[in-house]
Amino acid sequence: KKRSPALPHFGHMGEEQPSIVRGDGCTVYGDDGTEYLDFVSQLYCVNAGHGNDRILGAMREQLDRIQYVSSATHNDVRTEYADKLVNVAPETLESVFFSVSGSDANEAATQISRELQDAGTVLTRWRSYHGSTYETAGMTGDPAMRNAVERHAATTGSVKFLPPFDGCDSPFDADSPEELAARAADHLEYVIRNQGPESVAALLTEVVGGSSGAFTAPPGYFDRVRNICDEYDVLLIADEVITGFGRCGDWFACDTESLEPDMITFAKGATSAYVPLAGVLTTGEIAERVRDEQPAIGQTFAGSPVGCAAGLAALEEYDDLIENVRRLESQFGEELGALKDYDVVGDVRGRGFLWCVEFVDPETEDPVFDTRVEDGDNPVEDVVHEARDNGVLVGGGRPGFQVMVAPPLCASEEEIAEGVDVLLSAVEVVFG
Ligand code: PLP
Repeated sequence: KKRSPALPHFGHMGEEQPSIVRGDGCTVYGDDGTEYLDFVSQLYCVNAGHGNDRILGAMREQLDRIQYVSSATHNDVRTEYADKLVNVAPETLESVFFSVSGSDANEAATQISRELQDAGTVLTRWRSYHGSTYETAGMTGDPAMRNAVERHAATTGSVKFLPPFDGCDSPFDADSPEELAARAADHLEYVIRNQGPESVAALLTEVVGGSSGAFTAPPGYFDRVRNICDEYDVLLIADEVITGFGRCGDWFACDTESLEPDMITFAKGATSAYVPLAGVLTTGEIAERVRDEQPAIGQTFAGSPVGCAAGLAALEEYDDLIENVRRLESQFGEELGALKDYDVVGDVRGRGFLWCVEFVDPETEDPVFDTRVEDGDNPVEDVVHEARDNGVLVGGGRPGFQVMVAPPLCASEEEIAEGVDVLLSAVEVVFG
């Protein structure tokens, strides 16, 4: 078969992938007619499923009216979308600075923070993913992504802290979720004090871990984080590029945690990924300062009218789809939980329609294959390939001892059961 001249992203993961040519709901089709259950929404982004009529109709209508309007001026659909988005966002967020991708939304949020705070440092977590541009790969906790850009040129301005993580390589040996929350928050405060609070502009964090392992924070952790940020005058930015738009059972993961961030960055699910649209939701106070001080940042394609039209229709869809996530999330967790019968499965965790299966060495309970420090064949990748060869697309986590599961939010009970079944068989083939 002729190799595609379009080079795949994210390293070797792309080379062996099928060529997907069509999609419908949770199903996609390869160029040879093979049918796949899209159990990872492509890159955690096709939240409304493939071929959603309402979103497609809105895009077509917009294309007939005006196709592009400068991001330096106003546009009716852009204003309407910003208005409606602000309505579903946490209450304190009142304005939107549009971007094109998750990476550049995170760049914009950190740049705005640095300008407004007149400070250079942004704190981010180990075990995080924030993008693949120089700035955002540098802020990313995953070493593969960060080292890909830092190998030949230094990135500056980010300092890492430890996540409140209780999986197989937890940095805190806590006996309870409460202890984990307290120790992880104390650690964060220690980092800020020793870094020099006045040098820290912002803290950027996923609220539920994304591709780094779908881990939720222990109860009380984010209350402490909010208080610490207030005490040391650090802006709190929630990266909701994966978790936004219903993925974790609420409009935003911040809602579930009752967290009021200073900014939320969003992308992926905003338009169900039908067309690029991303941005930064900000408090009124930050928006005022951006209006006054006008940081000289911007992008041609930010907030495109077609993207905003798709986004408006997607917001209407999510009203219903979030209900579907809430209805099915416990069934999802229970069915995936059957994987724990394998002693190589160390943990199954997640929230809503974002789940992770972690693989460990049963004797040591360390990662079964740690891609951060080991070269060679990773058996967890074999699980991903085995599932794909049996018609179910799942994702590889970062680090690579994890499999990620994140179907479109319209997935039915039957589709969830089918996906989990195939994943179980794949684990049996590889590790059974
Ligand atoms: N933030 C998170 C949490 C992500 O998962 C991603 C991408 O997967 C990004 C940011 C970067 O988004 P993009 O790939 O659109 O630049």
